[in-house]
Amino acid sequence: MNQETEITVERPNLSGMGRAALRDVVLGLGVPERQAKMRVQQLWHWLYHRGATSFDEMTTISKDMRAQLAATCDIKRPDITTAQLSEDGTRKWLLKLDDGNEVEAVFIPEEDRGTLCVSSQVGCTLTCKFCHTGTQRLVRNLTSAEIVNQVLIARDALEEWPSPPEGRLLSNIVLMGMGEPLYNFDNVKPALDTIMDQEGISLSKRRITLSTSGVVPEMRRCGEEAGVNLAVSLHAVRDETRDWIMPINKKYPLHDLLTACAEYPGATNARRITFEYAMLKDVNDSLEDAAELVRLLKHYKIPSKVNLIPFNPWPGTLFECSDWDTIRAFSDYIFEAGISAPVRMPRGRDIMAACGQLKSDSQKRRKADLLAEAAKA
Ligand code: SAH
Ligand code: SF4
Repeated sequence: MNQETEITVERPNLSGMGRAALRDVVLGLGVPERQAKMRVQQLWHWLYHRGATSFDEMTTISKDMRAQLAATCDIKRPDITTAQLSEDGTRKWLLKLDDGNEVEAVFIPEEDRGTLCVSSQVGCTLTCKFCHTGTQRLVRNLTSAEIVNQVLIARDALEEWPSPPEGRLLSNIVLMGMGEPLYNFDNVKPALDTIMDQEGISLSKRRITLSTSGVVPEMRRCGEEAGVNLAVSLHAVRDETRDWIMPINKKYPLHDLLTACAEYPGATNARRITFEYAMLKDVNDSLEDAAELVRLLKHYKIPSKVNLIPFNPWPGTLFECSDWDTIRAFSDYIFEAGISAPVRMPRGRDIMAACGQLKSDSQKRRKADLLAEAAKA
């Protein structure tokens, strides 16, 4: 017997799995081809419409089949290391993945809706100077199941199973957590397929927004294949400044980025592209900057709206948030030019859940785990 056959095969974890992987599991259990579709359909309903976390609940599946599933598979969410609740109602979960890495997901309730902010990577490779996530050294892509599981955990906590047809607390999703989603589109896309599937979680593409720092070659694909709303982290209107605060600009400068925005499939006046702009004192907040921003958006003819985000501080940052009067004047200038530019009030700052504040300490924890293991040995 060679070494490989001695290694026990891991039990598949169905939580977060897409249809194709579920089909493989079902076929692996010996279900005949012609029944596979029906079995996947049943599992799908329980996993993503009802939010089942055990096979016992799946009463439309025969007892024998349920027993077989329970004997060979799991439905396991990531462990919740901490769950925090801000004084403004924002919730943040720190989730522990199978390899010990951690990511954060944030839920922001509003009056008539609620938005879940989902992470796409552990950390981020892009080192934007104003972003806490960019200082995290350890980085890896999340699997599509790990992305979907963030949504399942939020639905569990909000007790929103079975998925209600309307009036949902969790009504919108933004890919604005840790990581650059367009550096992990191969896993983000299948996760979105699961999230949008009408027989399951059923959130439409109009309620989903993907935020990118400007990975130009992937933008078209995102529009064509996922069709979700696009948000672009702009933060500066001159290459010199953007090169400094967002190093990705050296690879994909403003002209390339704005051209890709103008060509984004599905962008119309009814579905505008959102430009995120963090207000950084004395860096990007002058009225000349506001004028240049307006000029660029008009020049490239992009159906746009601008979100002004007061800079959220974090330990050790170089930057300060612009003064309130400066933010007001910047916003008014853009509004007067006919482009919507609301100031986004920060949410969940007290639990470090606001834009750009997310950072898991997987590295430290991993070190602590290693030390603990070494002590045991
Ligand atoms: N990597 C993607 C997705 C993260 S979205 C992107 O950069 O678009 C997080 C949003 O918060 C981005 O617009 C980001 O630029 C912004 N941001 C990062 N750090 C921030 C901070 N300290 N204060 C306010 N906004 C910040
Ligand atoms: Fe990464 Fe976005 Fe933060 Fe830049 S702003 S470091 S791209 S998460």
